[in-house]
Amino acid sequence: MEVGNYVKLKTKSGEFEGLVLPSTDNNVVNLKLKNGYNIGILKDNILDYQILGKREVSYKIPSISLESKEKEIISILSTGGTVASKVDYETGAVHPSFTAEDLIKAVPELLDLAKIKGRAVMNILSENMKPSYWVEIVKAIEKEIKNEEAKGIVIAHGTDTLSYTAAALSFMVDTDIPIILVGAQRSSDRPSSDAYLNLIGSVLAAKENIKGVYVVMHGESSDTFCYLHKGVKVRKSHSSRRDAFKTINSIPIAKIYPLERKVEYINKVEKSKKEGYVKINTNLEEKVALIKVYPGMDGEIINYYVDKEYKGIVLEGTGLGHAPEYIFDNIKYAIDNNVIVCMTTQTINGRVNLNVYSNGRKLKSMGVIGCEDMLPEVAYVKLMYLLGNYDVEEAKKLINKNLVGEIEYRSRFDAY
Ligand code: ASP
Repeated sequence: MEVGNYVKLKTKSGEFEGLVLPSTDNNVVNLKLKNGYNIGILKDNILDYQILGKREVSYKIPSISLESKEKEIISILSTGGTVASKVDYETGAVHPSFTAEDLIKAVPELLDLAKIKGRAVMNILSENMKPSYWVEIVKAIEKEIKNEEAKGIVIAHGTDTLSYTAAALSFMVDTDIPIILVGAQRSSDRPSSDAYLNLIGSVLAAKENIKGVYVVMHGESSDTFCYLHKGVKVRKSHSSRRDAFKTINSIPIAKIYPLERKVEYINKVEKSKKEGYVKINTNLEEKVALIKVYPGMDGEIINYYVDKEYKGIVLEGTGLGHAPEYIFDNIKYAIDNNVIVCMTTQTINGRVNLNVYSNGRKLKSMGVIGCEDMLPEVAYVKLMYLLGNYDVEEAKKLINKNLVGEIEYRSRFDAY
């Protein structure tokens, strides 16, 4: 079977007739069907074939070298998600199936920016992320810095839970090089894909002389710039738009113009000489819960976690950090059992203040700790980290203190 042959294929999932197209993957036959659609079929799934005719074609698959003239090493660690996905033409579903090398092949311009190394750490959709996977990513980061001498790390990640991972890495990795998480809302085989701009933006950011964990994603709905967000101040704020990620309770760190290869700082950032220092901390207490407060909620949910020996609870309260009075006994039950109870707000923007209303004052006097302007998911990850490393009293003292930029004590007027 050659490119240009009209063929009839008998496969495990039915018969297909069409023109054989060039394929960059030796394991796959690409077929143009009569209705104009292209499909890819795994060779392993072909049971039999018949050549019906032949058409003269001239084509050349561009050969891509993975070599770069650049010296600085940037490692791309792929964890899955749309940014590392392609469409499965049999089902139409998006599957995480690209390796880090595939990412380079999809965006060869990355090699103009740096010497790219990379590998797939895992291959999951980020809705399936769990704390033990954060530990795997953290260990992979340490290896890239220590063994591969990476001077910047890009982590390709699904967008759904990308900000949880960004928060986890912010607490778990202490390094003087930038760690940039990047995702895409649309896969790379779609014309409207944001993978191209975001990936170039992420490598540009990884080359900067800065330290810490950041997120790079589209800054607006067209293809002009990306934002560099602080990893503990960012959230996926739209289910489908390409500019879904917003910095919350602050402003982004920089605007990155991938096509012009330009980075424009708009907020304070920690500079670094990038000597390659790295220290990781993988202790996490997984018995921490994040609970949303809402009218009609059953306070027994709190007792459930206490009885399951949870050590910490982050409440996503209403307004300034409130909860219905009928669950106060449940909250007291948690505190009496040495469970740390923290308060964040589901308004997302703004900060918790337990001093304004009597409801907040009562919560505070019971021992509930207000978490300033910290995002609920960041408080959740931080409490796991604190309880994994400190005793309860110390963890209580640190939860509403700024450790890595997760709390800003003064609210910026331009942050909303
Ligand atoms: N559900 C996907 C994920 O989070 C969406 C994406 O990749 O952007 O992995």
